[in-house]
Amino acid sequence: VLEIGLPNRTVLTTCAYCGVGCTFKAELLGDELVRMVPYKHGKANEGHSCVKGRFAYGYANHQDRILKPMIRDSYEEPWKEVSWDEAIGFAATRLREIQDKYGRKSAGVLTSSRCTNEETYLVQKFARAVLRNNNTDTCARVCHSPTGYGLGKTFGTSAGTQDFVSIDDTDVVLLIGANPAAAHPVFASRMKKRLREGAKLIVVDPRRSETMDGPHYDAVHHLALRPGTNVAVITAMAHVIATEGLYNEAFIRERCDWDEFQDYLEFVSDAANSPEAVEAMSRVPAGEIRAAARLYATGGNASIYYGLGVTEHAQGSTAVIAIANLAMLTGNIGRPGVGVNPLRGQNNVQGSCDMGSFPHELPGYRHVKNKDVREIYERAWGVPIDPEPGLRVTNMLDAAVDGTFKALYCQGEDIMQSDPDSQHVAAGLKAMELVIVHDLFLNETANFANVFLPGSSFLEKDGTFTNAERRINMVRQVMAPQSGYADWEVTQMLANAMGAEWTYTHPSEIMAEIAATTPSFAGVTYERLDELGSVQWPCNDEAPEGTPIVHVDGFVRGKGKFIRTGYVPSEEKANRRFPLLLTTGRILSQYNVGAQTRRTANMVWHGEDVLQIHPHDAEDRGIRHGDWVRMNSRAGETTLRAEVTDVVAPGVVYTTFHHPFNQVNVVTTDSSDWATNCPEYKVTAVQVAPSNGP
Ligand code: SF4
Repeated sequence: VLEIGLPNRTVLTTCAYCGVGCTFKAELLGDELVRMVPYKHGKANEGHSCVKGRFAYGYANHQDRILKPMIRDSYEEPWKEVSWDEAIGFAATRLREIQDKYGRKSAGVLTSSRCTNEETYLVQKFARAVLRNNNTDTCARVCHSPTGYGLGKTFGTSAGTQDFVSIDDTDVVLLIGANPAAAHPVFASRMKKRLREGAKLIVVDPRRSETMDGPHYDAVHHLALRPGTNVAVITAMAHVIATEGLYNEAFIRERCDWDEFQDYLEFVSDAANSPEAVEAMSRVPAGEIRAAARLYATGGNASIYYGLGVTEHAQGSTAVIAIANLAMLTGNIGRPGVGVNPLRGQNNVQGSCDMGSFPHELPGYRHVKNKDVREIYERAWGVPIDPEPGLRVTNMLDAAVDGTFKALYCQGEDIMQSDPDSQHVAAGLKAMELVIVHDLFLNETANFANVFLPGSSFLEKDGTFTNAERRINMVRQVMAPQSGYADWEVTQMLANAMGAEWTYTHPSEIMAEIAATTPSFAGVTYERLDELGSVQWPCNDEAPEGTPIVHVDGFVRGKGKFIRTGYVPSEEKANRRFPLLLTTGRILSQYNVGAQTRRTANMVWHGEDVLQIHPHDAEDRGIRHGDWVRMNSRAGETTLRAEVTDVVAPGVVYTTFHHPFNQVNVVTTDSSDWATNCPEYKVTAVQVAPSNGP
């Protein structure tokens, strides 16, 4: 700063990485961004930040940015730079030709959790009002779609119940399948502070993570379960609470459906659900499950925080329901210090779900089959809305391989690197006649595209992100869009080239349309966000300043719904051919597929994905620390370096998926959640052997 001069301009905006949603002051000298300073009045971060938000913004000016639109007739041909008019015209004409030839439902969109609420809203509107079908999906499909299903069924709304400060009132933290120290660092600091003050920690995770290690506290209970057994272990905790009479009958009588509870009580009390019955299969000692259940039920205010270690399973939705059952069973809902809190991975994954990105839901989680809701949008948009749910991304790829799905508009996602079973993704993309990638960089998916539309980074536009506590934060333009247009403008140009007559001149007008059509956003305006700093939805006439905690006097659905959670073993089982179970996660310095962080100084810390393997398993295979190893599954094979460590249990290996050259998702399979098709990234049967390198 001293060398180049002091900043002379400040813009308040929101970090574009994780679901904590930290507020930053972007400090500029003229038009040059000098530094990002965490804002002390930011409600989600109160002046704190992590190494990503503070230092990893340089990707916005990286030389790899593509700033000119490009087209080509097929993905095998070289790209040709063209004007915006030509690229938009090419894409619009091809989309129309494909729909004329193969039918309305042969095209679809993918929205992005990287983009703003306003941009996401426009992309799903593009599918529904311009393509005239519900073929819209989001990357939440591959992370928290089971949260949507599970919390929607039990509580009536698909969102975390608490604000972050709620943890200051908790006495027991039950952390399941999450490592906030790496993935949600600012929230992790707040949690660790509470643990240092004396709150107890129960961790359910196959791996010993950084979150569990801290000065002045230890995880009181670590249930180091075998990957794929969440439902069995959580249900066994409920069994203990039910059979030892530790449940909160008064809460259940007042707040939940009593008849459904009786049915659930009969189910969960069965000896087949006892800790002793699941001990061998889960590898968690029954005594530990019992002790953890007693602590959760009797330790005071108990709160549950969970991550993708819960959702990315064949029984992801069942596990979310099991978690909701635990909270209702003990009355840990509806006040500070308790609740059920999905730790959302991406900056706007909550918002992308809120905005109607799923193929069965219009904005605000209202089903497309609901005629009254459809009529709201038919009036607002002036077109009929298809009452039939559309295709999920996995179904789009299947249909492409089958020859019935032909065109995809993909904004801000890299499904080739992030989605499982890469070979199948490639086959689907290759089979399409039109793939439009709208992104900052030529990502792996763009290898199969024939239109590339340059994207705008979070620094180049106005809008909002919604964080993991339902907090709508302002994103403010720091610099002009480098390609000439913000993402919402590009979607509008494409829609209008196909005959729409959209006339938005600023994202605030899009938010006004969202507020006018979505009850939980009815009170949200840019003026109110400027005035209050942020608001948590629902924000409407009943709650003009937003809602920090939901389900206070009653569940959104009315009575809380207990649902049986029978355990079904994963199809991915360790066997003679594939004797180890692979599970995946993230590290602090990198972010998801690394498209951003790999193009910043954060690369100095972790330049490749490594495979963690227990010393016993390494020794059995003649593998030493730092050796190259070959890992193969029934889906495919990849090569990584080994990190021999006892943070993983014998029989379990672990890696990340931040680097495209490591191709971890070549190995993960097509196994997915029964209710939502969320991929089972967390359980893949593999074999690992020494290798000479890639
Ligand atoms: Fe950004 Fe999340 Fe880090 Fe906050 S905790 S600075 S939102 S990555």
